[in-house]
Amino acid sequence: MEGLKNMMEEAVEYQLNKILPTMPNVCSCEKCRLDMASFALNRLTPQYVRTDTGALFQKLNNSSQQAEVEVMTTVMNAINIISAHPKHDT
Ligand SMILES: [Zn+2]
Repeated sequence: MEGLKNMMEEAVEYQLNKILPTMPNVCSCEKCRLDMASFALNRLTPQYVRTDTGALFQKLNNSSQQAEVEVMTTVMNAINIISAHPKHDT
């Protein structure tokens, strides 16, 4: 929706970019990345903010360490599950 952004998408993408390079045996093609991101995003609480008030910047700075650990754990799960069942031939 115009003017709204789910901050959780940023957080999940950030964790994928951080974790995937450390796992060279895991396929990190666009299809798998999208599967991992959607798997994780469907299990995390969305964090919608308005994009027109500077709330975007505020929210980034306020994200707690506990929330970050939760995102990381969920993304790790997503990577493990999707990489075990990639939706394409190897
Ligand atoms: Zn793949």
